[in-house]
Amino acid sequence: MQCKFHTFSELEAILEAEQIPAPDYGIKREAFMSGVSEERLLTEIDRRIEITRNALIKGLKHPQHSRSGLTKGAAAAFVSATRRLIQDDLFTRSLAYSLAINEVNACGGKVVSFPTAGSSGIVPGIIWAWWDTKGNPTPEMAQIREAPYDSRLRDAFVVASLTGVIIAQGATLAGSEGGCQAECGAAGAMAACALAYLEEQPLRACFSAAALSLKNSLGLVCDPVAGLVEVPCVKRNAFVAANVLTAVDLTLSSIESIIPFDEVVWAMKQIGDILPGVLKENATGGLAITPTGLAFKQALERLDT
Ligand code: SF4
Repeated sequence: MQCKFHTFSELEAILEAEQIPAPDYGIKREAFMSGVSEERLLTEIDRRIEITRNALIKGLKHPQHSRSGLTKGAAAAFVSATRRLIQDDLFTRSLAYSLAINEVNACGGKVVSFPTAGSSGIVPGIIWAWWDTKGNPTPEMAQIREAPYDSRLRDAFVVASLTGVIIAQGATLAGSEGGCQAECGAAGAMAACALAYLEEQPLRACFSAAALSLKNSLGLVCDPVAGLVEVPCVKRNAFVAANVLTAVDLTLSSIESIIPFDEVVWAMKQIGDILPGVLKENATGGLAITPTGLAFKQALERLDT
């Protein structure tokens, strides 16, 4: 089996040559590269999928409050809100789930870095939101619980991970190297690819959706307040989830990204390379050095002494 690919073009050529669907290839490739059986790999994937489900249940049902005061139960508040501008279940759940999972991360709970902890709400948030509205509709978000799922949902996670592999090879998945475009931006591309896949789009269209989403996160800086993965990270997970829904809705309308996915990744790398160091996760620029950002930092330092 050909395991090496750096671009979507290369991945597409392998899938064509081997006549294998992308999720099956992703599972076989990962099993081979990890040196485990496919059966064991699937068990591990399912274990991690369950972690994401548990995180979103926790974040929705139990308001998450962090020691710093930067995370204040936004997901739980959003779920119980009586007024919303956009009355759409998939939209509402996508935002709520992404927030919930990332708040659990911000409060030291268990999540799956997908691709990173700071962006961990976006991919599972979108995939579970789709599942709960379209795959296996559940009536009430407030009563959310563990949910049975089939191979479609697992395959969506695998397709997302293939997208992440390409970004990691062509650019980076580290905020300290490429800014937040490499974390939340990459997660948005992965989620858009997965969501388009769930909507039964051909793989080329899935990667066009990924390109549309990633293009709209290019240049996103990493400037976390007090050096914590909370502000702007948690709410950014919800904002990028909205970006993903836009990308996939455009894709479903046969609107393609003019710039192909591989070239968007190339652009992301160039932008990451020229981004100033103060905007790459070291909390010395942007939001981190606003008066409010600095006040939180100083308050935290007092707590620590
Ligand atoms: S702002 Fe920085 S720390 Fe926060 S999610 Fe983005 S890359 Fe990660």
